[in-house]
Amino acid sequence: MIKIKVSNLSNGRYDYDFEGKASDLEIFEPYIGNFKTNVVISKFDNQIILDSETGITANLICDRCANEFHSEIKSNFRTVYLFRMNYDEDESEKEDVVFIHPDADKIDLDEDVRDYAVLALPMKNLCSEDCKGLCPKCGKNLNESSCNCNEENIDPRWEPIQKLKTKNN
Ligand SMILES: [Zn+2]
Ligand SMILES: [Zn+2]
Repeated sequence: MIKIKVSNLSNGRYDYDFEGKASDLEIFEPYIGNFKTNVVISKFDNQIILDSETGITANLICDRCANEFHSEIKSNFRTVYLFRMNYDEDESEKEDVVFIHPDADKIDLDEDVRDYAVLALPMKNLCSEDCKGLCPKCGKNLNESSCNCNEENIDPRWEPIQKLKTKNN
C-alpha cells in the first residue's frame, strides 16, 4: 500500500501522503479506522533518507477508570537507503541503514509502518491526565460522580496502619 517509486528518481526532496484502512496494512486492534502516513524522502546520488510519520486512532482502555477512549497514536521512523550493486544480507540489517539494488523499482514501507505503529502503543493508558479513577471502596467511576466513601471519618487510632497500607500498595 505504502510504496515509494525510486527508479529514475532525480536528486531532491519529495513529499508523499498515504491514507487507507489500517486493517489493509494488517494493523489491527487496538487500532481502528484509517491510517495516515506522511513520507518525506531526500535523494542524493546513491542515498535516500526517508522520514515517515503515521497517525492512527486507537481504542484504548483507561488503566484507572476502565473506560474506553480514543487516542491518535503517532509513530515515526527514519531509514537511510544506500544503493549498492553488491551487499550481503547481514550487512543490510545493521542499524537503520538498508542497502538496495540500484535497479530497485520501489521501496515498500508497509512492514515498517506496521512494526513502528505496534511499538508506539503506550504501556500505560489514561483517558486524561487527571482521571480520577474508580473508588477503591464502592467502585464508582469518580469522573462521573462522587461517592461518600472519603467523607467517612477514619478512627485516628487506625491512621498509621492506613498509611502503611497505602505505602505497601
Ligand atoms: Zn480514566
Ligand atoms: Zn466510593
